[in-house]
Amino acid sequence: MLDQTPGRPLLTELYPRIVKPRGALRVPPNLADYAAACRDFTWQAARARLDGLPGGQGLNIAHEAVDRHADGPRADRAALRWLGRTGARRVLTYRDLRAETNRFANALRHLGVSEGESVFVLANRIPELYIAVLGALKAKCVVSPLFSAFGPEPLATRLGIGAGCVLVTTEPLYRRKVAGIRAQLPTLQHVILVPDESAATDVPDTLDWHRLVDAQSADFVIPPTDPQDHALLHFTSGTTGRPKGALHVHEAAVTHHITGHYALDLHDDDIFWCTADPGWVTGTSYGIIAPLTNGVTSVVAEAEFDAPTWYGILQNERVSVWYTAPTAIRMMMKLGVDAVRGYDLAALRFMASVGEPLNPEAVVWGAQAFGMPFHDNWWQTETGGIMIANFAAMDVKPGSMGRPLPGIAAAVVRRNEDGSVTPIEQPMIEGELALRAGWPSMLRGYLHEEERYRKCFAGPWYLTGDLAMRDAEGYYWFVGRADDVIKSSGHLIGPFEVESALMEHPAVAEAGVIGKPDPMAGEIVKAFIELKPGFTPSEALRRELLGHARKRLGAAVAPKEIDFSETLPRTRSGKIMRRLLKARELGLPEGDLSTLEGDTR
Ligand code: AMP
Repeated sequence: MLDQTPGRPLLTELYPRIVKPRGALRVPPNLADYAAACRDFTWQAARARLDGLPGGQGLNIAHEAVDRHADGPRADRAALRWLGRTGARRVLTYRDLRAETNRFANALRHLGVSEGESVFVLANRIPELYIAVLGALKAKCVVSPLFSAFGPEPLATRLGIGAGCVLVTTEPLYRRKVAGIRAQLPTLQHVILVPDESAATDVPDTLDWHRLVDAQSADFVIPPTDPQDHALLHFTSGTTGRPKGALHVHEAAVTHHITGHYALDLHDDDIFWCTADPGWVTGTSYGIIAPLTNGVTSVVAEAEFDAPTWYGILQNERVSVWYTAPTAIRMMMKLGVDAVRGYDLAALRFMASVGEPLNPEAVVWGAQAFGMPFHDNWWQTETGGIMIANFAAMDVKPGSMGRPLPGIAAAVVRRNEDGSVTPIEQPMIEGELALRAGWPSMLRGYLHEEERYRKCFAGPWYLTGDLAMRDAEGYYWFVGRADDVIKSSGHLIGPFEVESALMEHPAVAEAGVIGKPDPMAGEIVKAFIELKPGFTPSEALRRELLGHARKRLGAAVAPKEIDFSETLPRTRSGKIMRRLLKARELGLPEGDLSTLEGDTR
C-alpha cells in the first residue's frame, strides 16, 4: 500500500524499477509490446481465439475449457493434475475431463435439474469440485463454489440468496456444516456427497456421488448457450447488508482466456499452478477457466500453505507459471531465501500475485529467492478477471499493480456531488479506481439487488470501491479501500456479517468490526463489543465470544481479537462508526467527528 506520509520518500524512490531487458526472457512473452497490443486490441479478436459451440450455437465456458481440447490434439494432455492432501495423485486428461463432466451434466438432467437453476459446491480442492463446476456449466446451471472454511451461517446466507437447488459436498462437511441448516433451505432439493476413498455414503436425504454420477453416460451435448446466459455466481462483501451475489455470464470466458494469455503469459506447454481456492473468485477464474481455456496443465493442490510442501510442488510438478497471493509470499519471506535454495525450480519462469497489496519488499524478495520478481496484478470479484497487471515483458515498479490489460480502460476518478465522476488527469493524485464498463467478464448484476448494482456505475464508468493513483507512465498504485470491508489473507470479509453473528450471542448488545493491520495476513478481523446490562467483561466471556463466532462463521471469517467497550461510537443515526474504532485502534487522527453521537471516548 502506498505510504504518502509527508516527507516519506515515494516507493518509486525506495525500490528501483526492475528492468526487463529486451529478449532476455526464456520464452518470448505473449505480450511483447504493450503499446502495440493496446492499440490493436479488439474484444472480437479475443473472442475469435475461442471456438464457440459447434454449429454456431453460442458460447459455453465448459466447451471452451474442456470439450474443444478433448476433440483436438490436446485430448491426452493432462488438464488437471490433482495432488491430494495425503499424497494421492489423480491426473485427468482433457479427454477424461470431458467424460467426467459429461457424466455430471447427465446426473443433473437425471435429477430433473433445469437450466438456470443453481448448483453450489462446498468442498476442499478435490477433483469432484472441478468436475461438478464444469459439468454444471455444461448443463447450463448457474454455479457457485463456496469456501470450505465457511461456518454454517455464511453458508446458509449464500445458499439462501442463491436459491441453491443442488449442493455437492463431502460427508464430513455436510455433517459439520450443512445438516444443521438444511431445514432453513427450502430450495435445496439435492445434496450430493462425495465419499472418502473408503466407502459409499448412506446419509439420510443425500445422494452418493459415485452411485449417481458413475452410472451416467459419458456423452453429453451442450445445449445452445447464449454468451449472456448466467454461468457463475460469486459472493462478495460490502460494508453493509448481506453478502452480494455477483453474477457472471458465459462470455466471461473471453476475459479469462485472454488475461491468462497476456497477464499470466500462459504458453501451450506450461504447467500452471494457481494456489487459490475456487471458493474465492481467483480459484475459479484462474484455477479452472483461464488455464483450461488456454489448454495448459493446471496443478490442483489440496494441501493448505506450508512452505516446504509448496516448494516441493513447484519442483516436483515442474511448475512453469505460478499464481499466488501476498499472505503466502510473506510467510515464505519469513523463512528466508535459504529455504528455497535446496529445490530445483529450473522450470519456473513466471510468478504472479493477486488479492491484496503486495509489499514492494516481497516483489524484490521474489527476485532474490526465485530469480524473478512476483508480478502483482489487480482485480476483484465484480471484474471477473485480471484488469491491471505487471506483464512478463514490462519493467516492474515494486509496489505498483501494473498497467491495464489491453481492452481495459482504467482511470482514477473523483466523485462529484451530483453522482457523476470526473477522471483525474494529473499523475499521482488519489481517487477512486474506475474501469470503463463493458468488458466480457464484468458482473451483470448482484442477485436480487438491482439498486446496489446500479450504484456501481457512474456514466460509462464502473466504480471499483478501491482508492488508487496512476503515475505518469500509466502504472497504478493501490492506496486502500474506499469502504470498510476487510481483506484478511486475501479473503474479503464484510464487517456486517461478522457483527450480525456476534450479536446473536445473548451477552452482546452491539458489535463493531474492523480490519486491523497485520504483518502476515494484511489485516485481521477485530471486533469491539458492547455488552448487554448484567454482563461484565472477562477473559472467559471473550473466549466464549471468539468460540461462538468461530462456530457460526468459520475460521476464515471469525474475529481473531475481541475488545470490550462500554459504549461504541455511533453516528447520530445510530450506525457504529467503524472508521473511528479503527482510528482509535491505530492511534490515528480521528478525523471529522461532526456526526458522532454524544461523547463515546
Ligand atoms: P475480491 O473481490 O475478494 O477478489 O477482492 C477484491 C479486492 O481485493 C479489491 O477490490 C482490492 O481491494 C483487493 N485487491 C485485489 N488485488 C489487489 C492488489 N493487487 N493490490 C491491492 N489490493 C488488491
